[in-house]
Amino acid sequence: MKVAKFGGSSLASSRQVKKVVNIIKADSERRFIVVSAPGKRSSDDIKVTDLLVELYHTRLENRDVSALIETIFERYQEIGAPFHVDEAILNQIRQDLQSLADIPYENNPHFYDTVLASGEDNNAKLIAGILQAEGENARYVNPQELGMLVTDEPQNARILSKSYTSIYQWRESEETLVIPGFFGYTEAGEVCTFSRGGSDISGAIVAAGLKVDLYENFTDVDGIFVAHPGYIHHPESMAEVTYREMRELAYAGFTVFHEEALMPSYRAKIPVVIKNTNNPSHPGTIIKNERSNHDNPVVGIASDEGFSMIYISKYLMNREVGFTLRVLEILRDFNLNYEHMPSGIDDISIILRANQLNPELEEELLRKIAYEIDPDELRITHDLTMVVVVGEGMKHRVGTTAESTAALARKSINIEMINQGSSEVSIMFGIHKEREQDAIRTLYYTFFE
Ligand code: ASP
Repeated sequence: MKVAKFGGSSLASSRQVKKVVNIIKADSERRFIVVSAPGKRSSDDIKVTDLLVELYHTRLENRDVSALIETIFERYQEIGAPFHVDEAILNQIRQDLQSLADIPYENNPHFYDTVLASGEDNNAKLIAGILQAEGENARYVNPQELGMLVTDEPQNARILSKSYTSIYQWRESEETLVIPGFFGYTEAGEVCTFSRGGSDISGAIVAAGLKVDLYENFTDVDGIFVAHPGYIHHPESMAEVTYREMRELAYAGFTVFHEEALMPSYRAKIPVVIKNTNNPSHPGTIIKNERSNHDNPVVGIASDEGFSMIYISKYLMNREVGFTLRVLEILRDFNLNYEHMPSGIDDISIILRANQLNPELEEELLRKIAYEIDPDELRITHDLTMVVVVGEGMKHRVGTTAESTAALARKSINIEMINQGSSEVSIMFGIHKEREQDAIRTLYYTFFE
């Protein structure tokens, strides 16, 4: 049994939906279909979800939303037209969209989520209708009916574990079920969405609940590239990657798959395959708990910019009990979240996301550290990029760090910080942001091709 999730670009037009129908028909194990809202038809197009965001703001400004509703409706109508979808389904979609013009928004914390979720909800109705018109025994299932219960955290819902038991009951269903992604219901019956891009999360939850053999995530690329195609011309794509490796890559900006979507399938030990709707015969990239192939110690190279580093050094720091605790307490008092903290005998570096800082806060923070910690040296460096070399294979092979630093040295790239956790899944290098592209390239040619 498989859960197949189709992203917005796979459902943006009737041409794309035709490919989706063929994919579903090609494999009788694809019985649980999770859909996003229609995405962009071309690079300058607008996603239906973004039109709904506009609808929300227009309502808040007390302006007329009928033109927007018509634009959104036409997107569904245009997709459904060549399939001769039952008129009743289109009427239902129109009515649902029209209701968004009337639901009250004052004192309604779920208004935004209700508006946004309609993108996926109506698309699931449409896709179920299209599958029926194509002769499939398919039906739409609302997340409430499915049992997808979530916490009451608008735009950031989390699944309640009892949902898995309810979802499991659907295993025996004879029909192909089409489920809207991106949202669930609170116990009080309110719509709550996951964070943006959250249909991947829904797919993973449905896969974990049904205990299927595979979660197929259909998108518009042939799997996950080993490095960003913006830096490397036609990079290789990965055949397989472990959840732990994927977590590290996702942290540093690999966004093919929603980061939070890894959790449910990881826990349920269900492999996820990222596949291309436009090239379904390509095997794609499989994410699983264990990787059998360790030929290359590295699976991918990622980078993420926008970091600052506070360097604190104090002679005999290692003998001072509670030193780090005091530093972290200061960070907490300033409500600052840190990402990494590599340390030496007498120094520590605290790496944080620069978007949390501003010049006044920074000055106050440094003053406080200077006053309370009395360091010998204290400085802050900005414009750092973290380059991450990821691969569980490095556990089994000596020299991955040496090869990486040698590659960076050949290009005269100064390493401001190195961090390798004892799990040996990744090595992280802090470099100046201007050298990001050079670093990615030299590391890519060291470990790939
Ligand atoms: N449609 C939603 C978004 O654009 C969720 C998704 O596509 O996964 O964020």
